[in-house]
Amino acid sequence: MRQAAGSEQQTIVSSENSSDDGQDDGQQVWDVVVVGAGPAGASAAYAAAVAGRRVLLLEKAELPRYKTCGGGIIGPSRDALPPGFELPFRDRIHAVTFSLEGRFARTRRSKQMLFGLINRPEFDHQLVEHAQKAGAELRTGATVSRVEQHGSAVPDRRSVAVVLQDGETLLARAVVGADGSASRIGAHVGVKLDQVDLGLEAEIPVPETVAEDWKGRVLIDWGPLPGSYGWVFPKGDTLTVGVISARGEGAATKRYLEDFIARLGLAGFEPSISSGHLTRCRADDSPLSRGRVLVCGDAAGLLEPWTREGISFALRSGRLAGEWAVRIAEAHDAVDTRRQALNYAFAIKAGLGVEMSIGRRMLQIFERRPGVFHAALTGFRPAWKAFAGITRGSTSLGDMVRSHPMAERALSRIDR
Ligand SMILES: Cc1cc2nc3c(=O)[nH]c(=O)nc-3n(C[C@H](O)[C@H](O)[C@H](O)COP(=O)(O)OP(=O)(O)OC[C@H]3O[C@@H](n4cnc5c(N)ncnc54)[C@H](O)[C@@H]3O)c2cc1C
Repeated sequence: MRQAAGSEQQTIVSSENSSDDGQDDGQQVWDVVVVGAGPAGASAAYAAAVAGRRVLLLEKAELPRYKTCGGGIIGPSRDALPPGFELPFRDRIHAVTFSLEGRFARTRRSKQMLFGLINRPEFDHQLVEHAQKAGAELRTGATVSRVEQHGSAVPDRRSVAVVLQDGETLLARAVVGADGSASRIGAHVGVKLDQVDLGLEAEIPVPETVAEDWKGRVLIDWGPLPGSYGWVFPKGDTLTVGVISARGEGAATKRYLEDFIARLGLAGFEPSISSGHLTRCRADDSPLSRGRVLVCGDAAGLLEPWTREGISFALRSGRLAGEWAVRIAEAHDAVDTRRQALNYAFAIKAGLGVEMSIGRRMLQIFERRPGVFHAALTGFRPAWKAFAGITRGSTSLGDMVRSHPMAERALSRIDR
């Protein structure tokens, strides 16, 4: 673990006079402090560090840390990685078996790779190392309790105080909250949500013969609860098996996972990890900043509402947050800070916001008519081609609806 420079200085001297050499009456002032070292935080730290700024990345866990996640890397995630980043694929997917509550299974195949699978501890750690190579300082075992933008802990109007659980206070010109779905920074910003889901997963080590059967192929099962689905993602000698559904149906979601595992004949294998995690989607009018603090990734509720794909949303919003945090760090007054924060919100809404609104619509239809989705994907070639294009990254839901009036009409027809 690398120690952050100046981290031992715990006394804050209140002052209106801050200098631009990174000191505030003796205390180190970071240009950008990023809270949380998942894909969103590592991306933000990388973007701010390559711009030559003093960046501190704070992470409560020791790295590598486990994260409940399928680890599916679709085209937009691959395209949002920093230059020179080698994806640590555990498998490359060329086939998808679709089933509807375990029935009507049909496998679709593709010569071209559809998407890849990674292990999150490995992938996330590698992203953090990239940010470190670009110049960001990492501090692990550092849990942030809160941020303050006014009061005695804040020496001047250009600073934000980042208060750690042990009472230590750090100073920054701008803060990026990337602390995931239980975000404290999101609470400070006032993030509003209109969808929260519960994902349950088991990492199941399997014998070689079973692993061989799954190699290169995933299973997607449209589930019994509205908007739910399950998956099997193979990663060599381990299968990641999970389900996701609206929060509030904990017992039914757990039963779905148990039945799913039993149906697949995997109940006899002991999972090495069983865990659960929430995913959250922001409301349309949810803030993305407050003063000198920006939020991104799960902390901001940026996630595709239908598939709950969040890695590309975290990488893309993290990079934007890092870039705009640099500008906020340079802002000399509240008006300029506000302008830069609004620019960040605009960039998010113009890209990820559009994808989210189409995803929301897809989820509404899927909740009511999962059978139509299943029939389309397994029996209607253009629907499968669209799915393949989206996972490869050659198109997106937004592009399809924008550029193909037929796609819009098909959505409306299914909707009716
Ligand atoms: C069951 C499940 C399966 C999923 N499968 C996929 C998938 O296959 N593909 C996909 O694209 N997406 C998937 N997602 C979504 C994806 O996992 C998330 O969207 C993604 O991890 C968001 O990244 P993030 O960096 O915003 O947050 P996180 O990855 O959650 O990182 C947040 C980090 O902040 C740290 N932190 C939290 N609080 C503090 C604090 N107070 N102080 C300091 N550090 C803190 C945490 O330790 C963590 O390291 C899945 C989600 C679930 C629940």
